[in-house]
Amino acid sequence: MNTQELYAMINEASEHLELHDDFQQLLRIPERQLAFSVPYESDEGSMRVVEGFRTLHSSLLGPGKGGIRLHPETNIDETSLLASWMTMKNALMHLPFGGAKGGIAADPKQLSDKERERVIRSYIRKLSPYIGRDQDIPAPDVNIGQQEIGWMLDEYEKHLHDPYNAVFTGKDPVIGGIPGRVEATAAGVVHTIRCWLKEQDRSLNNLKVAIQGAGNVGSFCARILADKGAIITAISDSSSTVIDENGINVEKVLKTKTDTGSLGGDHESSAVFEVPCDVLIPAAMGGAIDEETARLIQADLIAEGANGPVTADADRVLEERGIDVLPDILANAGGVVVSYLEWRMNERKEEWSKADALSQLEHYMRQAFSRTNRTKQESGVSYRRAAYYTACRRLADVMQARGLIK
Ligand code: GLU
Repeated sequence: MNTQELYAMINEASEHLELHDDFQQLLRIPERQLAFSVPYESDEGSMRVVEGFRTLHSSLLGPGKGGIRLHPETNIDETSLLASWMTMKNALMHLPFGGAKGGIAADPKQLSDKERERVIRSYIRKLSPYIGRDQDIPAPDVNIGQQEIGWMLDEYEKHLHDPYNAVFTGKDPVIGGIPGRVEATAAGVVHTIRCWLKEQDRSLNNLKVAIQGAGNVGSFCARILADKGAIITAISDSSSTVIDENGINVEKVLKTKTDTGSLGGDHESSAVFEVPCDVLIPAAMGGAIDEETARLIQADLIAEGANGPVTADADRVLEERGIDVLPDILANAGGVVVSYLEWRMNERKEEWSKADALSQLEHYMRQAFSRTNRTKQESGVSYRRAAYYTACRRLADVMQARGLIK
């Protein structure tokens, strides 16, 4: 889904909900888009400069919330599109946050650990006036995890002393992170799959699952699902796919990835999309499933672990073929839900256990699934459309309560 397609979806939702045109107007232009230079010193001592971005799409529901990605192809348009999705995701999940997203256009594979740290610290030095625990709260996204968030928090506090660490989520628990945040996105994907299975009178036992991507979301989806009795028939990364119809030894394959940097599969990376399975989880980059790929997929369900993995053309093909899609703004919302719990925990100076965090997560995911499912049944549309209608209803209610639209 590109920006135009997103606005077509918002338009459709607004017609369906019989909202005034002002509704769309209020969402059309991001509140704030920042694009800035990020200079850093290379290990050889020379200066290098990359681009950094942060978009606050909407603060209608609360302070901005959304991750920061480190990827060579990211740009301001992608960042703003991802920020708009966060507005929809946070609205659908009933979180008190607006939508935001950030990016650093650099390739982590080309950076040493020290260089990566310098890039990230430099990015946060520039961004620090625009973020804060009640302004805009960054988190992990592609290639950004606990270590990077730790550097960000440290750098932020050098410049703007804030005794509260609620300005970032996704922190290591020793610096105020909530236990369970690392696997939260994947755990949320699994909850939505279970809700879908329940609708079909099916269970996770012996369910065949193919997973595209072995990063944070893909690897934890594989672990959690295998642990609960599903059969992981395929898992891929950017260089190959490992396939085993009888079930992959997940820990072994993921260890190979940790030790060697890749999964070492015998099949091409794209082969993961053609493996017969019950559920396919795209958990890598946006746009991975285009129209052509959508025709090859042999699954009953696609659960979007990544943001925007299915293009709008592919979505039409999948709808025609009767393949259900649990959309990103629902399926992968577990990350931001547990981020919200982390933020709340920090603000209230509480200590939460992993069990507390994961059980609250389950509650949020189930509630959001049933809201979406109710809209789906009432309107006879796909899960994606239903998720957007539900999110837009929430946003419209807030606008009406504030007197912004009639
Ligand atoms: N980057 C994640 C997402 O796309 C998490 C955002 C957050 O925790 O704020 O939802």
